[in-house]
Amino acid sequence: MQLKVVKFGGSSLADAAQFKKVYDIIKSDKSRRFVVPSAPGKRSKDDTKVTDMLYICYDMAASGDIIDEYFGFIEKRYNEIIRELGIELSLEKEFEVIKNAFTHKAGKDYAASRGEYLNGKILAKYLDFDFIDPAEFIYFKDNGTLDSERTNLLLADELKRHDYAVIPGFYGSMPNDTIKTFSRGGSDITGSIVARAAGADVYENWTDVDGFLMADPRIIDNPDIIRTITYRELRELSYMGATVLHEDAIFPVRFAGIPINIRNTNNPEAKGTLIVATSSKNDGHGVITGIAGKKGFSTLTIEKDMMNAEIGFGRRVLEVFEQNEVCFEHLPSGIDTLSVVVSTSELHKNKDKVLNGIFKAVTPDSMTVEDGIALIAIVGRGMVEAKGTASRIFKSISDADVNIKMIDQGSSELSIIIGITEDDFEVALKAIYNEFCPKK
Ligand code: ASP
Repeated sequence: MQLKVVKFGGSSLADAAQFKKVYDIIKSDKSRRFVVPSAPGKRSKDDTKVTDMLYICYDMAASGDIIDEYFGFIEKRYNEIIRELGIELSLEKEFEVIKNAFTHKAGKDYAASRGEYLNGKILAKYLDFDFIDPAEFIYFKDNGTLDSERTNLLLADELKRHDYAVIPGFYGSMPNDTIKTFSRGGSDITGSIVARAAGADVYENWTDVDGFLMADPRIIDNPDIIRTITYRELRELSYMGATVLHEDAIFPVRFAGIPINIRNTNNPEAKGTLIVATSSKNDGHGVITGIAGKKGFSTLTIEKDMMNAEIGFGRRVLEVFEQNEVCFEHLPSGIDTLSVVVSTSELHKNKDKVLNGIFKAVTPDSMTVEDGIALIAIVGRGMVEAKGTASRIFKSISDADVNIKMIDQGSSELSIIIGITEDDFEVALKAIYNEFCPKK
């Protein structure tokens, strides 16, 4: 029999009605053996996630306010779920312990982690599955990064002892036994860690969309869903802000070659998006897998005659960025020019120091900074083999009367990145999308 690890996000477990859908999904397939829940998310647009409520409540406790009333709202959310599911479970003792820990300043991470912990207790009872507390099996190092090898070893051993279990997402423990959480959305990472430790055939990540979309639906009407995407393509698109999954969630499963399947709890019939190591299938998408973009970049262009003959020129420029702790994103260069593309907010942290530093380091003939740049990444594993992709991109953009300011093709031929002014962003994105995915 296959083994599946299934993670359900906050919207999938926001109330009893959502819990019932999750129950049906899990019970309809015996291979769904290990379940990773998030804390209850928003029930409607104006609702507050339990995780956010816990942060607020902890801040209140830390500044000496009485938390009984606010904590009562959190208790109410869980009690409502328990009552409506009709299960025999009381979390009253747990609530007391947590409230007490809040007033004794048990830490922000401890506070936030209780959202997943309590939801895990309810889900385990409802499914009649074992409960595994990740505080005992997911370890961080002193520097706050995941101790992945120790975690994998001990968690794999523990999972062997259980046929079916719920393991709450989002947290683990530090060497000094205090609780530590991942960054927001981190239950995705727990799911991936559990999938690796269990040696799962697939990691199903259940959320509230039918899959990863080819483009941002706020710009493109009804974009297609990506059927299959490779980890590397996903990285390229996530870098530009297209997210369904926590960025770090791919690493544990990628290491083990386990595919991730994004699925929709509210539409379980949909096949979702499959994230895999490699794929030759293009599922009818043609050469482009997805398009994503971001505003908020600046280019710093340096000109100097005979730059290309000056050994160490590039290093000296980049050293200035390093010394001023400014990350650079891209580095398109010509014979006598070099442009450094950086995020505007990064550059402006230390702009004068960077400019003066470059003047001293390489004495350029001129230097200009242009803000208001947007980048668009056109990503697709099919590009390596298809001729004419770049020309289709550029023609569609010029037909839309947009001027391209920068071009960067990654050496893997997996993506082409173009820079344009922010005002042209939406128009350019639409033009490229329509070129590759004309409406049927
Ligand atoms: N509950 C946490 C958050 O809201 C973690 C998660 O949902 O993945 O960020």
